[in-house]
Amino acid sequence: MKSLIDKLETNHTLSKDEFVQLIQNHTSEDAQHLFERARCLRQKHFGTAVFLRGLIEISSYCHNDCLYCGIRHSNATAERYRLTDEQILSCCAQGHALGFRTFVMQGGEDSKFTDERMVALIRQIKQQYPDSAITLSLGERKRDSYQRMFEAGADRYLLRHETANAEHYGQLHPSWMSHAKRMQCLQDLKEIGYQVGTGFMVGSPFQTAEHLAEDLMFIAQFQPAMVGIGPYIPHHATPFADQPAGTVEQTLFLLGILRVMMPQLLLPATTALGTMDPQGREKGLMAGANVIMPNLSPADDRSKYMIYDNKLATGAESAEGLTELNRIIESVGYHVEQSRGDAPSHIDH
Ligand code: SAH
Repeated sequence: MKSLIDKLETNHTLSKDEFVQLIQNHTSEDAQHLFERARCLRQKHFGTAVFLRGLIEISSYCHNDCLYCGIRHSNATAERYRLTDEQILSCCAQGHALGFRTFVMQGGEDSKFTDERMVALIRQIKQQYPDSAITLSLGERKRDSYQRMFEAGADRYLLRHETANAEHYGQLHPSWMSHAKRMQCLQDLKEIGYQVGTGFMVGSPFQTAEHLAEDLMFIAQFQPAMVGIGPYIPHHATPFADQPAGTVEQTLFLLGILRVMMPQLLLPATTALGTMDPQGREKGLMAGANVIMPNLSPADDRSKYMIYDNKLATGAESAEGLTELNRIIESVGYHVEQSRGDAPSHIDH
């Protein structure tokens, strides 16, 4: 297996069969070797820097119906909220004072957040905090909408591809969604000029090692600025309530593969990883992750953005818990870098 890991480092990708072998047949010794290579490469490109993003969950309304997601439209028991512009701006003010220089506005696909409203909001945030980057994660929208929000000042967009296999995509999503449309959105975002983040859940229902191999090959070809991965975690009020969760081990192994494959990648240790394991973030950093996204949403609404059961929203996961987060990050030999933390390929954007 070590030779495959070395080959991945040299060639920046592998064949599908080789990825499958690596994912399926590695020993814990192989995993340790992978993590060592991952740490070495991230040290070379980023030193000990960990970048923070302030996550603002702007709406739990969603007209979409992804089968795995707790805020899907069909979940009548989901608590719904929508932040006002004033609330969002006050999250940014609080975040900026705490040192955040990236604000991520994430939400369900909520038609109340029209292009006009987003454009005005983005302009206002950029005017007040010209030193900060804006990341959007609002699902699928029209190309023109992505274009207008980019022109208003948005820098980055996160849209996970969820799975690179069209058939698997169909098993996870309602009939009106399509894999081709998702790929088109990602292409549009990239062409427009966003720093694009994509990603997938580890251990999502029906996922095989072949699917994961296809995810990695897609990422190698698409060359995103960031890749968000975390274990699938069931939500009790979805059709996948009884499906098993993904594992921390497999998520860590894939983080290591991603770092070795694309050494300059922005790679978050996600909330889902922290939810599955109290030491998830540290383990993620040790496997190659270099980004953490603490929650800046108003405390009262945080528990309502429940995309899976028991989602963490307090302690080191929250903006108020920055001291604890700093301690965690320093305990594994890294430090928080208070900058926008742009992708190395986009430093001048
Ligand atoms: N509406 C936005 C934001 C979705 S939430 C969008 O469509 O992009 C961000 C990510 O959370 C999703 O892309 C998905 O990969 C992940 N997610 C959703 N439900 C999950 C679950 N049950 N377990 C783990 N991750 C989940």
